[in-house]
Amino acid sequence: MTVPPSTVPPVALPAQATAATVAADAILRRQRARESSARTYARSFPIVPVRASGMTVEGTDGRRYLDCLSGAGTLALGHNHPVTLEAVRRTMDSGAPLHVLDLATPEKDDFTDALFATLPSGFADRARVHFCGPAGTDAVEAALKLTQTATGRSGLLAFTGAYHGMTAGALGVTGSVAVKERVAGGGAEVTRLPYPYAYRCPFGVGGEHGAALAATYTERLLDDPAGGVVPPAAMIVEVVQGEGGAVAAPDSWLREMRRLTSQREIPLIVDEVQTGVGRTGAFWAVEHSGITPDVLVLSKAIGGGLPIAVIVYDEKYDGWLPGAHTGTFRGNTLAMAAGAATLRFVTAEGLSERAATVGARMTARLDGLRAELPAIGDVRGRGLMIGVELVDAEAPSDSCGARPVDAELAVRVRAACLDRGLIVELGGRFDATVRLLPPLTITDEQADAVVDRLADAIATVSKDAAQGRQA
Ligand code: PMP
Repeated sequence: MTVPPSTVPPVALPAQATAATVAADAILRRQRARESSARTYARSFPIVPVRASGMTVEGTDGRRYLDCLSGAGTLALGHNHPVTLEAVRRTMDSGAPLHVLDLATPEKDDFTDALFATLPSGFADRARVHFCGPAGTDAVEAALKLTQTATGRSGLLAFTGAYHGMTAGALGVTGSVAVKERVAGGGAEVTRLPYPYAYRCPFGVGGEHGAALAATYTERLLDDPAGGVVPPAAMIVEVVQGEGGAVAAPDSWLREMRRLTSQREIPLIVDEVQTGVGRTGAFWAVEHSGITPDVLVLSKAIGGGLPIAVIVYDEKYDGWLPGAHTGTFRGNTLAMAAGAATLRFVTAEGLSERAATVGARMTARLDGLRAELPAIGDVRGRGLMIGVELVDAEAPSDSCGARPVDAELAVRVRAACLDRGLIVELGGRFDATVRLLPPLTITDEQADAVVDRLADAIATVSKDAAQGRQA
């Protein structure tokens, strides 16, 4: 296929090894030799970033890339936005303590003001915030502990395809009885429920009908005296599954989850670590459906690119004891300043609406490429959380019209994107979905360049694969 030329500067490719490329190779070699084999993004992107601005990242070798990973959805304003840099500089110059555990500071007070001003109406008035260790996973742990403490129950309801973090065992190895005794058991029993995923519908029907079946199944399971589900402490859900491959649940389904949890007095935790701060086209993704959660889990973009994580919850659950969820790094002054500035800027500039508009345009363009590029099985998402699921175009499709994933093709497409100056990561089932998480500040021109480069990568890799099969 022919891809229209883009006016965004192409990746600069040095013709031969320069001192800079040699230095970059040496750094990468040392990383491979010294860092853990569990390292992740460093494997997919063998680059050495030295400068970044907005959506552009520049490597030591002078190559420039359009960054559609944005720190895994963290950089709502892109890299080094003047608003966040100014907030950080001002705070550093003020002499404010940069580390304060969870003491009160003007920066924390201001961050709390800015955060509460963004919360859905009806939630802010009754909200409490707890500052957690600076990772989303720690805030998830806090949300589970809070609801387990409040309900005196331990079981949890969670969904197929969900991602909530990596620290499941932390409390299990902690010795403090005072902290543990309120949280019954160590590893809580998790009941896995079907998340509505139209393209690979757990019920084999797809669409709104599949989502309706998922809701009915959940409700009947919870009420089945022989269903095996002990009354749980909470349900935890993402409005759009991020790592799960940009799978957006229908609003009607989320409203059903709210109704059935309310009716059974099960706290509803909504994990907005990735969907928050305008990413999906609303400031918080819960606003699309209009539901009020009991607990919101927030991290990533709320810190303006610096680490911070909180839970915000209905004060009626605030029965846990002092020290119930503590940690050293809960008072990052710079993150609070950068975060407050980011939250206000996203609101003032209407960046949620911008994410909705530009995201819809990118999604429509990508969807329009399906006829030309049959390796694109599904294009989905909400706002600037977009997924392109890659499939084996020659395999037969299932009852929902879905073909089997082509994970190998996806890996090659990611590499081909990098060659074309585009950073995209994979996610979803078998890591076969290309995920696009550009900053909310993406320009129309950059959005076109992203789609052009991705389309060209898919076209080239598919052609090479077809030729390989014929040879
Ligand atoms: N919840 C969701 C929805 C996430 O996307 C992530 C991170 N991708 C987490 C929790 C965990 O956050 P962290 O990596 O900061 O621990």
